[in-house]
Amino acid sequence: MVDFKELSGKPVAEKIMTENKIRAEKLADLGHTPTLSLFRIGERPDDIFYERSILRHCERAGITVRQTLLPAGAPEQDMAKLLTAAAEDNTVDAIFFFSPLPKEYNEPALRELIPAAKDVDCLTRASAAAVFCGEKRGFAPCTPAAVMAMLAHYEVPLKGRHAVVLGRSLVVGKPLAMLLLAADATVTICHSKTTDLPSVCRKADILLAAVGQPRLVQSDFLAPGQVVIDVGVNDDPENPGKMCGDVNYAAAKETAAAATPAPGGVGLVTTAILCQHIIEASEQNVR
Ligand code: NAP
Repeated sequence: MVDFKELSGKPVAEKIMTENKIRAEKLADLGHTPTLSLFRIGERPDDIFYERSILRHCERAGITVRQTLLPAGAPEQDMAKLLTAAAEDNTVDAIFFFSPLPKEYNEPALRELIPAAKDVDCLTRASAAAVFCGEKRGFAPCTPAAVMAMLAHYEVPLKGRHAVVLGRSLVVGKPLAMLLLAADATVTICHSKTTDLPSVCRKADILLAAVGQPRLVQSDFLAPGQVVIDVGVNDDPENPGKMCGDVNYAAAKETAAAATPAPGGVGLVTTAILCQHIIEASEQNVR
């Protein structure tokens, strides 16, 4: 086995959460409690799981969460009215809803009801445009931002290096590619139609997998010296009831220089980043 470093999400998340708490305390000294307006429609298990993590992290950081829970069949107008009220409420710093919304909803229109300053997970076109234009305003989506925080924490050099991003979704792959580009990496984006995926991946200095395919990345995708970042969160077909990533971690350990475990990697950092964005929105609101 080569020299291998595990890039755990825990110390990264802990450091961010400690900073979050200090910043929230400073805001409290100014008489302002960072406040998130959180919307959940229906009872999707994934949403409830993420919601629990958000509530836990926000409590730790000193962020107040105002929860709005609507039943799955609630009219879109109800959601629109509540979102508009949160958008106009000066005591609300940040707004977040679990996506995708029910199919009957006009999700793009509902997203646009969130003011850019309160859009802490890049739900609106304006926030996405800032990421794609390389502008430092608004907030990047939390998962790609968590990946960048992981790379920074572990001092993985990006300038001039070849990053291969597996996946081109608007939530992860594309914005992640833009953030890597802004950090002066040379970026290749792959997707389900890419030919000879393993050979493209082997050319990466940094391989970032966000495909939602359990252990798609096997030894033939990997080359010595690589840093491998696994964004995947999948039901593990080999261990029912457990989760696994998009990368075969055992294979990464055999070949790569460093890799994030999944679970235990990027996922741990994502909610800490959401709290960081809420506090930043809050700081801008009191300015
Ligand atoms: P998504 O919307 O389903 O997009 C998946 C992307 O992967 C698509 O671009 C698709 O290509 C590509 N793809 C799928 N199968 C492929 C294959 N066999 N070979 C090459 N490319 C393939 O998923 P997502 O929302 O981006 O999420 C990706 C993963 O990240 C999921 O496991 C998700 O659970 C996880 N995730 C994690 C976090 C976190 O905090 N850790 C947050 C969000 C998502 P096409 O475009 O050609 O279809």
